[in-house]
Amino acid sequence: MKTEFSLAQLANPDIAEADKILRACVHCGFCTATCPTYVLLGDELDSPRGRIYLIKEMLEKDKPPTADVVKHIDRCLSCLACMTTCPSGVNYMHLVDQARVRIERDYSRPLTERALRAVLAWVLPRPKLFRAGMILARLGRPFAALLPTPKTASATPTLLRRIKAMLALAPGSLPAPGPAAGSVFPAVGEKRGRVALLQGCAQQVLAPRINQAAINVLTRHGIEVVLVKDEQCCGALTHHLGQDGDALARARANIGVWQSEAEQGGLDAILVTASGCGTVIKDYGYMLREDREFAGPAARISALAKDITEYLTGIDLNPSRQQGDVTIAYHSACSLQHGQKITALPKELLSKNGFVVKDVPESHLCCGSAGTYNILQPDIASRLRDRKIANIATVKPDMIAAGNIGCMVQIAGGTSVPVVHTIELLDWATGGPKPGVTQPGLN
Ligand code: SF4
Ligand code: SF4
Repeated sequence: MKTEFSLAQLANPDIAEADKILRACVHCGFCTATCPTYVLLGDELDSPRGRIYLIKEMLEKDKPPTADVVKHIDRCLSCLACMTTCPSGVNYMHLVDQARVRIERDYSRPLTERALRAVLAWVLPRPKLFRAGMILARLGRPFAALLPTPKTASATPTLLRRIKAMLALAPGSLPAPGPAAGSVFPAVGEKRGRVALLQGCAQQVLAPRINQAAINVLTRHGIEVVLVKDEQCCGALTHHLGQDGDALARARANIGVWQSEAEQGGLDAILVTASGCGTVIKDYGYMLREDREFAGPAARISALAKDITEYLTGIDLNPSRQQGDVTIAYHSACSLQHGQKITALPKELLSKNGFVVKDVPESHLCCGSAGTYNILQPDIASRLRDRKIANIATVKPDMIAAGNIGCMVQIAGGTSVPVVHTIELLDWATGGPKPGVTQPGLN
């Protein structure tokens, strides 16, 4: 794609990077076929190619984006299916990340929308506040039913619709908090390694059982696990809202504490059980590439970050139980399959450990969770969820497995089939308890 940035614009490293990405696009349109919003809405401007044009125009003109441009960028799930499909290697993720930052900086959203986004950005990354917010949301759920639901799904939802979607995601009850930051879980038997386990923010409130299962599996196989003190939210939530000041501050803080843990006790890896977080931590090196102090450490931390299934593939797990013929529909989270290119490993681990694993038709399409997307774009998100659940139903599973808490909550909101994390199944197969179940929200 031809670009027309001035030399002065190209002196900005972000614009130089955008220029490189844009020039790689040959506007073939292959990506449109696998883009969930194009599949649902059929509008070229809601396809990757259409958005790439809009972003190019916005950056070249260097003027505040119009409401129409913002609408189409906001509808993007950042699912990255387009990157998997693109034959030219266009890095859409880095382009749309930059566009979101530009929108946040230059576009004045309506007051109610600004307020909603500010609340999400403030509450979600802080587990204590998030827990309090979930309790409040639970109290508010009965009122959600009284809020009007539009007869036809809208791709430009009202504030009330978004609040209703937010309340619907609140679980009926919350589990007790998991182990405290700073805890160390010694290896059972001979020690074979030492890892940090990302504690996460929303996940540690909604389902601490996931990291408990990871700790069980790892320690049982000789790996010491540390929950690093003073670790923060990875920054993914604010990064996807275009609030990079917050996201980068969190990245720097995490790099600092992980680096010092690695220097003091040694770390073979930083393990992540929420793939949305994993994708962003693996991108810290890129996000901080222009930061003289942090560029090197960020690249090293990104290299240490691994999804839990990636790490476990290098260990011979000892299955100790026959679960019988438990059929698992494996939901491949976008951040895992498109963001981190991890597709076969989780399924192989499950099969090797005694489960009957089924692929879900249209597995490349997002379930509609996408961070805060199911709150900000509830109608598109619900349509994607319903489509995902219909596809899952075709394989008649006993359980649904996924590697990302956002997908688990989203899918559980529309099915009575138990939704569990892949690591919970591996824990079960190697001697742990039968997996807990993600509570469905209000439907
Ligand atoms: S598939 Fe790649 S090269 Fe083709 S239009 Fe989409 S982003 Fe551009
Ligand atoms: S990230 Fe997903 S929703 Fe956004 S343009 Fe690419 S395929 Fe479409």
